[in-house]
Order: sequence, then structure tokens, then C-alpha cells
Amino acid sequence: MGVPFYLAEMEDTFSRDVLIAGEDLWLDGALVGLEEYRYRWTAKVYAGRIEQVSLKLRGDEVIAISCTCPVKGLCAHLAALVMAVQERVEES
Ligand SMILES: [Zn+2]
Repeated sequence: MGVPFYLAEMEDTFSRDVLIAGEDLWLDGALVGLEEYRYRWTAKVYAGRIEQVSLKLRGDEVIAISCTCPVKGLCAHLAALVMAVQERVEES
């Protein structure tokens, strides 16, 4: 797994294909219910199946990340999550 990594470095952490697929999911609104509690962010991704995604932040560093899909590692669901979190953190 590519953790830890900084939010701003996600484009160096995920492969290009996964970034593109994740961006599609995010822009299509497939990621819903984004919530944060004590620096742990969770959401669901509707992509055929429903996947549960989560990550934990320390400052702007992702120190843990997980998804329920069969891909072991950094999947498109997680790319969508990181994009959504990045946007939310920048807003606040
Ligand atoms: Zn996944």
C-alpha cells in the first residue's frame, strides 16, 4: 500500500489509470455520504457493488486507507475518496 502519502501527492501515489477511473466515479457522484470523525473519513462508493471506503489523516498526510473491494491496494474507489476529501479539506 502506498501509505503514508500527502493529499497533495496523490497524483504520484495512484497510477494514472486508477486516477482517471477514480475521477470518473467522483465526478459521476458515485461517492456518497462523506463523513469525518476524529480525522477518519468514510464514504460509500456505488460502482456496481457498494464499496465502503475510509482513510485516516494526520495533518494533510494519509496514514491509513482501506476499501472493501477485491483490489488489494490503491483502487479507483480510494482515488475518488481522496479527491473528495481533498476538496472538503480545501473548503474548510
Ligand atoms: Zn476499491
